Amino acid sequence: MNLEKIMTDLEKKHPGEVEYLQAVREVLESIQDVMKEYPQFEAKGIIERIVEPDRVLTFKVPWVDDNGKVHVNIGYRVQYNNAIGPYKGGIRFHPSVNLSILKFLGFEQIFKNSLTSLPMGGGKGGSDFDPKGRSDAEIMRFCQSFMLELWRLIGPETDVPAGDIGVGGKEIGYMYGMYKKLTLEHVGVLTGKGLNWGGSLIRPEATGFGAVYFTQEMLATRGETFKGKKVVVSGFGNVAWGAVSKVTELGGKVIAISGPDGYVHDPDGISGEKIKYMQVLRASNQDIVKPYATEFPGATFVAGKRPWELKCDVAMPCATQNELNKADAEALVANGVFCVAEGANMPCTPEAIEIFHRAKILFAPGKAVNAGGVATSGLEMSQNSLKLNWSREEVDEKLHTIMRNIHSACVKYGKREDGYIDYVKGANVAGFIKVANAMVDQGVV
Ligand code: NDP
Repeated sequence: MNLEKIMTDLEKKHPGEVEYLQAVREVLESIQDVMKEYPQFEAKGIIERIVEPDRVLTFKVPWVDDNGKVHVNIGYRVQYNNAIGPYKGGIRFHPSVNLSILKFLGFEQIFKNSLTSLPMGGGKGGSDFDPKGRSDAEIMRFCQSFMLELWRLIGPETDVPAGDIGVGGKEIGYMYGMYKKLTLEHVGVLTGKGLNWGGSLIRPEATGFGAVYFTQEMLATRGETFKGKKVVVSGFGNVAWGAVSKVTELGGKVIAISGPDGYVHDPDGISGEKIKYMQVLRASNQDIVKPYATEFPGATFVAGKRPWELKCDVAMPCATQNELNKADAEALVANGVFCVAEGANMPCTPEAIEIFHRAKILFAPGKAVNAGGVATSGLEMSQNSLKLNWSREEVDEKLHTIMRNIHSACVKYGKREDGYIDYVKGANVAGFIKVANAMVDQGVV
């Protein structure tokens, strides 16, 4: 495999798609040995086929705000690869959404879903709609308009979207309502549904819980646990709150969370009532980080900065892509961090990852660490097909087992001769081999 030639060709074909090209390069760098070991992958054009999505739909999403003003956003669905199961991946509503970001997320999703061991292909979707500051009625009208186009492409055996940034239970509900009205079907076409209409227990907190279960396994490789560890988390969304809750339960102390405008440092630890306080603000679409520092004495709001400048043992970036750069990584390492686990998708830049690898600290990528979210979505799909609901304990146990297995797969494919575990390589290789073999079996389609 000629990596540089493949990348040069892709850059020509998809100029300016920075995040997509970054994600592809990372995977291709990891699988160079695999391509030598399995010559059939080259012969069957697996790389050329896997880097391009099966199809991309873009559509207009017109909607009317509470003042009667008409707005038009762009909607997307990227159906990347369905070699091992129906397309599966979240929907993101954020003003930064563009095709490059959705292609990077969809591409990553292929390998993440493969790692879960559940039969799910990769996809992603979203819109440049900004839900911040919008009323419930506006969000509902937007979601309905979005689904008026999307419903044609999706189905419980075809493509099963879920939430992501800006899309939680409320938005899934509004989209599901419109899908049901258009198709007359009450089926498991979206995951992250409400508990009384097909959702799974644990799904809202699954990504954060799973991330912490995975990190627990990483710490165990060095004979460590979360007990007494100082943990810094970025964001305070779906992923971050689950992670903060579980870290606290396991005896760790979360000393910071963040938002786009800065971070809050609470040396006493963010737990119990403090977490509940933030959840209430989140549910009503309000700012969290600044009010937290006013509400709880001892906490400080640090405007315009990222939390990576704090001294901590474990860092969990849980907000968005490329939010932790080389300088942040250097500061973390200088301050003694020994474990970085990506709760978000691709939050660390390639230069930051290089710093972590060089310092030989524990570092694991989002596609392994945050796979608990989609794994529990897979469990929701199973419950929908079986037409029954598993208990909280059953789902949590299955999630925990899946995360342990993903960790073992990363160790199997990522352990170097000197004993250091390259989780990036481990996750990419483990995820890739299964999908590539399925593509070989199914012919050139
Ligand atoms: P949410 O929208 O619930 O939360 C995102 C958090 O990050 C919010 O606190 C948000 O602040 C903050 N944030 C968003 N953009 C930025 C930015 N540019 N700079 C700094 N902070 C920012 O999203 P999720 O928790 O669902 O997703 C977070 C990450 O985890 C994403 O990378 C997503 O792809 C990934 N992920 C999510 C899964 C899920 O189950 N939800 C599953 C697997 C991965 P504010 O609200 O103030 O904008």
